[in-house]
Amino acid sequence: NRRIQLAERPKGVPDARTFRMEEGSVPEPGDGEVLVRTVYLSVDPYMRGRMNDVKSYVPPFPLNEVLTGGVVGQVEHSRDERFQSGDLVLGMLGWQDYSVAKADELTPVNPELAPPSTALGVLGMPGLTAYFGLLDIGSPQEGETVVVSGAAGAVGSVVGQIAKIKGCRVVGIAGSKEKLRYLTEELQFDAAIDYRSENWQQELKQACPDGVDVYFDNVGGEVSDGVIRLINPFARIPLCGQIALYNLEKPDLGPRIQPFLLVNRVWMKGFIVSDYSRRFKEGLTQLGQWVAQGKIRYREQIVDGLENAPDAFLGLFRGENIGKQLVKVSEI
Ligand code: NDP
Repeated sequence: NRRIQLAERPKGVPDARTFRMEEGSVPEPGDGEVLVRTVYLSVDPYMRGRMNDVKSYVPPFPLNEVLTGGVVGQVEHSRDERFQSGDLVLGMLGWQDYSVAKADELTPVNPELAPPSTALGVLGMPGLTAYFGLLDIGSPQEGETVVVSGAAGAVGSVVGQIAKIKGCRVVGIAGSKEKLRYLTEELQFDAAIDYRSENWQQELKQACPDGVDVYFDNVGGEVSDGVIRLINPFARIPLCGQIALYNLEKPDLGPRIQPFLLVNRVWMKGFIVSDYSRRFKEGLTQLGQWVAQGKIRYREQIVDGLENAPDAFLGLFRGENIGKQLVKVSEI
């Protein structure tokens, strides 16, 4: 049973020293527990925050213990009547080949409804983040302009497509020409801007001739400073992620944006997807319908092998993924 542990708390950008692979025996499930073989493992930007020893909405990862995250796995052996060998399940499990989990903490995954990997992406936590953040906080109205940063990623790609379904003008911000093509050609965004281009602010202004009514913020930093300059009166800003800041060693003090928010009576609200856990069923039903109808398209980028999970995680900060980044650990 190979396991990846947190070997060291990173300062700045994590690297190979942050992780350690070790081997142990396959654990035995007790009463009410299930032995799960990891099939897909999710790497997520929020895990960077858990590598620091600071108080947040989730506790820090303990040092020298296995990292945990979203996993789709297959039941090898069950000591609970709700699960049988061969069942597919979703849970917060270890970065390891096999995990023992309490049956109460697992959710069944039905492979007849959708490919099982989607339970970690478009029909899982990132999809729900897009759904509730955009609709509940952003409340996009027909004809409004919605800007989303981190637009080609797991959350952002769904945000933009829901905004299109709601009849908005949608502008995505992302970090490569290939991502821009994906957004405008495959996902039908109205415009896409490369924040690495020198004139991106000017390009954004041209792409938003009527200003910005909703800004779904996945990245923070200078990208968000630029978007907020174009914000309209009574705009809404769902504050979802700040990936541009996660690896900073010192706080980055940008321009003071409060005057833009004040003068325009902007509503900026941070949220964590679990705030909406009572409504997950509603969100998944609607997202499932949109996916089945082809109104929401999705991509997954899948690397093979547990040993490659650290690099797949680091790739999020290098912008290597289009859509949801996953690691495939074993076959179904
Ligand atoms: P993504 O699939 O979007 O992957 C991360 C992407 O972020 C990269 O591909 C990269 O794309 C972009 N990025 C990396 N570094 C920077 C940087 N310095 N500046 C600008 N962009 C950068 O990840 P997710 O969709 O899973 O998550 C998106 C955001 O949402 C994250 O900030 C995450 O923490 C947050 N989140 C929040 C949740 C909540 O409950 N509030 C739940 C889930 C996610 P590019 O090429 O465009 O740079």
